[in-house]
Amino acid sequence: MKTNIIIIDDHQLFREGVKRILEFEKSFQVVAEGDDGTEALGLVEEYRPDVVIMDINMPQMNGVEATRKLIEKYPDTKVIILSIHDDENYVTHALQTGAMGYLLKEMDADALIEAVRVVAEGGSYLHPKVTHNLVNEYRKLAAGAVRGGSYVPAADIRRPLHLLTRRECEVLQMLADGKSNRGIGEALYISEKTVKNHVSNILQKMNVNDRTQAVVSAIKNGWVEVR
Ligand SMILES: [Mg+2]
Repeated sequence: MKTNIIIIDDHQLFREGVKRILEFEKSFQVVAEGDDGTEALGLVEEYRPDVVIMDINMPQMNGVEATRKLIEKYPDTKVIILSIHDDENYVTHALQTGAMGYLLKEMDADALIEAVRVVAEGGSYLHPKVTHNLVNEYRKLAAGAVRGGSYVPAADIRRPLHLLTRRECEVLQMLADGKSNRGIGEALYISEKTVKNHVSNILQKMNVNDRTQAVVSAIKNGWVEVR
């Protein structure tokens, strides 16, 4: 029996590369591809794959949100995140949704095949760098993060990665820090226009009218550090 796989990524060339790598393996079959989280839901419904390989950053619905919805509806589907992001925020969110694997796009082909095999058989697979970052984060939490001389319970801050991109989370934090668009642009080495775009995306996604509402809501939800 073949392992049926669906690949979800917004970059077509990348999807094709992954597909070719996977199809070296005779027991793997890529049955469908999609470029967004919303499409993933439809494709899983249609093909009922064994494994879904899922990007995180995609235009409409991100991979973390899509994974959460997928696993709610099809608990047997095994999702492997394949992302460029190795930081603990992303990993934790992804694993909380029920993903069984977390891989990085920098990994080599053999490890990708191995990961799909392990996950298809019911195991889990994290890229070593991901594991390392996760372990370090837990160590930091255990030690208690000291910032500005006072104890900050870092675990209480949950970045809204189910809603915002990582960059938008950074911008949201800087809004909470009271930075102007120009200040944010300088800190992140991006143009003011790009900052404006991020801000309007944040407002839209958080369903608020202005920056102040966004910050108030973010603080209430524990999405930003008050420093
Ligand atoms: Mg992407």
